[in-house]
Order: sequence, then structure tokens, then C-alpha cells
Amino acid sequence: MSVDRLTKYYGDFAAVDGISFEIPAGQVVAVLGPNGAGKTTTLEILEGFADATTGQVSVLGKDPRRGGRAWRSRIGLVLQSTSLETEPTVAELLTLFARLYPNPRPIREVLELIDLTAEAKVRIGTLSGGQQRRVDLGLAMIGNPELLFLDEPTTGLDPEARRRCWASIERLNGSGTTILLTTHYLDEADKLADRVLVLSAGRLVADMTPTAMRASSGVSFVRLPLP
Ligand code: ATP
Repeated sequence: MSVDRLTKYYGDFAAVDGISFEIPAGQVVAVLGPNGAGKTTTLEILEGFADATTGQVSVLGKDPRRGGRAWRSRIGLVLQSTSLETEPTVAELLTLFARLYPNPRPIREVLELIDLTAEAKVRIGTLSGGQQRRVDLGLAMIGNPELLFLDEPTTGLDPEARRRCWASIERLNGSGTTILLTTHYLDEADKLADRVLVLSAGRLVADMTPTAMRASSGVSFVRLPLP
């Protein structure tokens, strides 16, 4: 994936202000930044849901706005807020989504990856917030995507629920999936990412390893994790 001098303007306001980066296949990259930094806007452009104002973007070899169906089926998405159906069971919803893809992962494998094997027959509306977020992850991975976009996958979850989401994300990356996630949390970027892109007011202010990030005082504006 490559992003070259990307901008997104709303009127005179630059939500994304000339950012460039590359993500090789297989990496986990975290886009870290406070509210309003431009994380979701960047993701929406990469996902093909929004137009860039200027700049070049290539995702799995294509311009996201011209990607088409086959391209889209190679990508999994977890949006910022969950909008799951509440009536079906976990297994029923996964089965329904599996039918949308040419080569879906076996449901059993997805349940293991998201650590919900024991909850397969539980209705989604009765799951905890963290379990529902892992269902979101399961739906994103059921089509066997090469690339996953996760928009704030653990915001609002308690520490244990966050750890279990992280474990699912790590297992997924272990199976070869490239992952781009956005987060407010230093600890999440540190735990999951090979590389961290720090956004502030639409600008890319750092592109570094988690180790370098820990040593840096320049990212102290980032909100601390929930207790
Ligand atoms: P958060 O962590 O709160 O989700 P973010 O880093 O994802 O923040 P964005 O949602 O990308 O930030 O927003 C970046 C900036 O662009 C914000 O100032 C936001 O108010 C502005 N913005 C986003 N969408 C629009 C829009 N449709 N019209 C005008 N301004 C917008």
C-alpha cells in the first residue's frame, strides 16, 4: 500500500494535510493520534469510501475509488462503531457473511481466531461489548482478506476485553494478513504494531517503530489508555 502526498480538504480546512507512507504486505501498522487528527478520514480514503482532494493512493495495486468488487473482497473492514444485528447467534451471522465471499474461511477457524468458540450459539445482543467487537473482527476476516482496516478496534473496552481483541488481531496477522489500524492508545500501538504513524492535525509527525516511539517525548499528547 502506498500513499503519496495525500490531502483531504473540507472547504479551507485540511483534515489530511500532505501525508506519505508505504506499508509492505504482512506488516501491522498503527495510525496513532488524538481526536480529530485525521485517522478515520485517511482510512476512508484508503477503503475507497471517500475521495482524496490531492495525492496518490494505491491499495493492493489499485486506486481505491476504482477498485471494484474483486478488489473489495480482498479487504476486511472493522468500522469505528459496531452495528451488529442483535438477534442472530454468532455462528448464524458468520455463516450469513461467509456466503458473500468466494473463498470464505471455515466458521470454526474464525471462531477460534476470535476466541468465541464457546459462544457460537449465543445471540449477539447478549454478548459483552468486547465479545461483540470480536464478532466485528470475525466478520471482517471471514472472506480471507489479504488486508484489514480496523478503525479504533478497542475504544471503550475494559483492559481484559482489549487484551482479548489484541490476541485475535495478533493471531490474524500471524496468518499473514496485513493490518492497518487506528488508535488513540499508545499501549495498543506498542503491543500490536511493527510501525507507528503518528498523526496530528492532519499531518504525519512521525513514522517509527514502537521502540522508537517509547523513547520519544514527541507523542506525549496522545491520550492515555483507559484505567
Ligand atoms: P477520532 O479519533 O475522533 O475518530 P480522527 O483522527 O479519526 O478522530 P477524523 O474523523 O479523520 O479524525 O477527522 C479529522 C478532522 O476532519 C476533524 O477535525 C473533523 O471534524 C473533520 N471532518 C471529518 N469529516 C468531516 C466532514 N464531513 N466535514 C467537515 N469536517 C470533517
